[in-house]
Amino acid sequence: MPFQNTLEFAKKLDAEDKIHQYRDEFHFPKVNGKQVIYFTGNSLGLQPKRTREFVDEVMKDWEELAVEGHFHSEKPWWDYHERLAAPLAKVVGAKTAEVTVMNTLTVNLHLLMVSFYRPTSTRYKIICEEKAFPSDQYMFQSQVKFHGLNPDDAIVEIKKRNGENHWRTEDIVSKINEVGDELALVLIGGVNYYTGQVFDMESITRAGKSAGAFVGWDLAHAVGNVELKLHDWDADFAAWCSYKYMNSGPGNASGVFINERHLGKDDIPRFEGWWGTKKETRFLMKPEFEPMENADAWQISNVPVLSVAPYLASLEMFEEVGMPTLIEKRNKIVSYLEFVLHEIDKEVESTFEIITSEDRGCQLSVFLHGQGRPLFDYLMKNGVITDWREPNVIRLAPAPFYCSFEDMYRFGQILKAGILKK
Ligand SMILES: *Cc1c(COP(=O)(O)O)cnc(C)c1O
Repeated sequence: MPFQNTLEFAKKLDAEDKIHQYRDEFHFPKVNGKQVIYFTGNSLGLQPKRTREFVDEVMKDWEELAVEGHFHSEKPWWDYHERLAAPLAKVVGAKTAEVTVMNTLTVNLHLLMVSFYRPTSTRYKIICEEKAFPSDQYMFQSQVKFHGLNPDDAIVEIKKRNGENHWRTEDIVSKINEVGDELALVLIGGVNYYTGQVFDMESITRAGKSAGAFVGWDLAHAVGNVELKLHDWDADFAAWCSYKYMNSGPGNASGVFINERHLGKDDIPRFEGWWGTKKETRFLMKPEFEPMENADAWQISNVPVLSVAPYLASLEMFEEVGMPTLIEKRNKIVSYLEFVLHEIDKEVESTFEIITSEDRGCQLSVFLHGQGRPLFDYLMKNGVITDWREPNVIRLAPAPFYCSFEDMYRFGQILKAGILKK
């Protein structure tokens, strides 16, 4: 069915959308008294209405039970995080034992590097993508220096070819082979935060492992967005934040995957704390550390329940809808957005260019030629929430859970008015 850039057609797509009603499950900010068109679910997902109940429940248990809440609330705090493992494992394609929730993303990646970046005098290099998310760059540099190595030597960035906007899998694989015996770790963002490119995680994982390295993934922009099969791909580890496509709220708890091959071992290097010890003997307060048999062995502190409760609310919604349905809608709404952009681009005589490749998830990154921040400001003032990345890129992520086809049409009209106004 060919798309049309009309309000009527957009409404027809909404009427056919099986999950259109989920839009009402979220709080939308308002601009000029009107619900916004929200394109920044890749940065901070909207608040699900049901989240408040989950948080209130913890507040009430704290109010009424105080310390007894650890064991005697309806959802006891001491193992509250265990409720998230099964639904989250489905989202990332893992076994329940391989998944846990704790801390925040960069913290977890550091902790995982304690276990999976173990440089030797000959095998010490890390492969990552060029211009990785800044927090990841700082992490790589500080980890390498912590081991007494030189970042310029130990960190190998994979470059895009001149004039191209995306990385080629063949270039990544050949770099992995080239570094070969010196390669200790491959750690890349599964979906690039800037261009929205989805990496071929399966092939890259395979290449890294055949080179004898550990392979991990930063899934900040991938989780809740694209299909993941961490277990089948045989990745060693992964971590992600939950506040982007997973709508768990600002700075809330991060998720972790550790391949079952690494579970139940006493000899793996790891920073440890009491929440990683066996539940049965934890409160005997013994000096010996006995690791949990699952990914919870990496837990350190007791559960930050107020940060985990919103994630549980969000996971309930992912359980109801399921990734396949979300991905089906995502494909359609992103294609429709792309179509609307091309139509508007024709009408305003080629002012912008979509730099996101065909291997994409929810995000289209749009390079604006000859348009600066004033256009971005115009969009924001007119109820389009998007973001701006230097030098001239707006990122548009129509999260399938709550964005509508009508939003895409209306956005096109506002964009056109903003460009013509100049
Ligand atoms: C959003 C994002 C982060 C954020 O890290 P925090 O530790 O949660 O602040 C890290 N890495 C990537 C690739 C991201 O997109």
